[in-house]
Amino acid sequence: MTAVHSLGKEEKLRILADDSRYDLACACGSRDGEDHRRRGADGLWLYPTSVPRGGKAVLLKTLLTNACRGDCRYCPLRRDRDVRRCALSPDEVAAAFLGYHRRGDVFGLFLSSGIIRDPDHTMERLVATGRILRRRYGYRGYLHLKVIPGASDAAVEAALAVASAVSVNVEAPTRSSFAALSREKDYDRDIVRTVRLIHRLTAPGTRYSRVRQSTQFVVGASHETDAELVTAASRLYRRWKLSRVYFSAYQRGLGDPGLPGERHPRGPPEDLLTREHRLYQADWLLRKYGFSASEIPFEADGHLSLLADPKETWARRHPEFFPVNVNEARRRDLLRVPGLGPVAVRRILAARKEGRLRTLDGVVRARALAVKAHSFIRFS
Ligand code: SF4
Repeated sequence: MTAVHSLGKEEKLRILADDSRYDLACACGSRDGEDHRRRGADGLWLYPTSVPRGGKAVLLKTLLTNACRGDCRYCPLRRDRDVRRCALSPDEVAAAFLGYHRRGDVFGLFLSSGIIRDPDHTMERLVATGRILRRRYGYRGYLHLKVIPGASDAAVEAALAVASAVSVNVEAPTRSSFAALSREKDYDRDIVRTVRLIHRLTAPGTRYSRVRQSTQFVVGASHETDAELVTAASRLYRRWKLSRVYFSAYQRGLGDPGLPGERHPRGPPEDLLTREHRLYQADWLLRKYGFSASEIPFEADGHLSLLADPKETWARRHPEFFPVNVNEARRRDLLRVPGLGPVAVRRILAARKEGRLRTLDGVVRARALAVKAHSFIRFS
């Protein structure tokens, strides 16, 4: 591990913000919409996110330190890697963020950290940054804090007291795939217990019910299948009420050479990015289109097809469901039509109140989507 002490604050912030890009578990950085990160004028990555009042804004995302005693085998910052290490104090991060925020450059802060000493010590520094922002500067905006696996109940609760959102990265969908990623972290003790604890502490009617919980899976580092990932995501939404599950394609060559994803890669790196994209499409089917995990169409090997959108694959496998009558079908049936999304279906339902529809013109704005839908609908 190479420690660097002589860097200025700005240079350290640039390094730490850059290294935070491996973590997507916030309302940013996904590939399922137009939420693509971009560099700000000073070179820092800025992450678009949806804001509660509607529209988009950007988050500043950074680590407190990229020094870490963790052994996560997919992570380029794990302890045995020779990378430039540095740290910012909670005061420095709070002041730097407020500078951007006051200029109107960013809407909120996503703060994570490598593990320094132990999980609770790291959590103390993350929470200290939040307290400085909330108490000293009166900041009332968006603050996402990463919860370090293995943190105590008290440390998690302290994070909930200052954060708008928190996340502990589940990383893998099963105990066995998780065990391939880290020899030190324990799936039940460090991950599942923490997700449950946050769920309990943020349940409706509790003191921290305003705090949202999200998480991230690494895709392709272990031997997990898409079916396992989608089933786990569905469980996290239904049972533990997570607001979002993110998928991050494993970056080959940055992890431990002995990792399953390095030894048995499923296709070239582009395939992992396509796989990540298909998982986000399946995630949309769960969250927005009323599909259950058991309805998502997997191939015989337990993966989603890389070649087709899972909604279209489902439609092709269920010819008995089509054509759907646009003038009479229920909302949930219209949502199964390839090419029709929640906005188009809302427009169709509104237009039906005015009279019978004979065309999708005016309700489906994108021509390609209207053409796609036409093979699956009828008007009478
Ligand atoms: S805890 Fe694991 S994932 Fe996080 S910085 Fe350390 S090695 Fe990387």
